[in-house]
Amino acid sequence: MVRFGLVGLCWSLGGTLALLAFGSSLDISPKARELHFRSIVVDTHDDTTQMLLDPKFDLGARHAEGNIDIPRMREGGLGGIFFSIWIPGTVTGPGAVKRARAQIDAVRETVAKHPNDLVLATTVEDVRRAHASGKIAALMGVEGGHMINSDLGVLRDFAGLGVRYMTLTHSVNDEWADSSTDKPAHNGLTDFGKQVVREMNRLGVMVDISHVADKTFYDALVISEAPLIASHSSCRAICDAPRNMTDQMIKDLAAKGGVIQINYHVGFLSQEFRDATKAHPEIDKEANARIKERCGENEACQILEGARLTRQAMLDGKLPRVEWTKIIEHIDHAVKLVGADHVGLGSDFDGAVMPFGMDDASHLPQITDALLKKGYSEADIQKILGGNTLRVMEQVEATSKRLGGKR
Ligand SMILES: [Zn+2]
Repeated sequence: MVRFGLVGLCWSLGGTLALLAFGSSLDISPKARELHFRSIVVDTHDDTTQMLLDPKFDLGARHAEGNIDIPRMREGGLGGIFFSIWIPGTVTGPGAVKRARAQIDAVRETVAKHPNDLVLATTVEDVRRAHASGKIAALMGVEGGHMINSDLGVLRDFAGLGVRYMTLTHSVNDEWADSSTDKPAHNGLTDFGKQVVREMNRLGVMVDISHVADKTFYDALVISEAPLIASHSSCRAICDAPRNMTDQMIKDLAAKGGVIQINYHVGFLSQEFRDATKAHPEIDKEANARIKERCGENEACQILEGARLTRQAMLDGKLPRVEWTKIIEHIDHAVKLVGADHVGLGSDFDGAVMPFGMDDASHLPQITDALLKKGYSEADIQKILGGNTLRVMEQVEATSKRLGGKR
């Protein structure tokens, strides 16, 4: 989930119509198609949960808006999806815990409603079994440590309900960790923050360092006994956003076995786009006013409307147009730095503004096609598509077992 002036994602009407016409016939090679659909494709970050809170939303129907639903996951060969449990970092205390629980419940109920397509997965074994039986593995990650209300018991409850990663902060500091988009208050992780990381290791919950301050990342890297993930971050060398990772951070993450799952958000992919939004704050301001007027406090509506307006600004030439191939640039940059064992996919679908050509999950096979064309081996592509994420999950499971955590 991104929280910059323009929240949200989605596309313009023009994009939607093009998608309806061509979405099912992507221009990719038969070899890419075959490889993609036999691979376990795992996306570590999707904000579709906000839509699931609306009882009228049907994940089983194909939608013209948003990026994720069962038909489009099927078309894109998405085999595992981490539904993000997210509320703004400014919502704290018992209210934050309550809202997080409601979202966990919404994901679990959605899975229960679609037993032929979805299965709740809490282990790598579950994900592999789901893939073998032709189902999509639904997993959960909590996006922001504020949702545990500084209570390890709540963290344990979340783990018991199936949460398999937690992002240590969202876009503001929480009580025990600094965020990359807030003023430092804790010099990284507090002592309690370090305890949280240790307890996550014991419980088998992956430590996610997307959104956190660089110092928080390094503190977590030292404390954690298991590899870390950056569930939805891209490369700062290409786009200088604090949410992205520097080359050195990517190297240090990889040296401890971790994975950076590349984020598809236009503001994290393209320096040109980022510079333009800074140079023209009025675009952001105007969009925010319209979002507020149209959506009030409805987060799902804000996401869709924000993305629609941003897409429109790109179409109107007010902001530079960002193409999906930027995703490949970031993947390739990270692979050149640390090899193919430490890079994965963390789209931020339904929580950010997608580049043109990656309008929704049905476009995922294009990534396989592009990597094949770049000369990547089939084995390396399979790792990037999901194998690396599953390897970290396995290592986190093994660490949990060693530390005596209950599974
Ligand atoms: Zn996010």
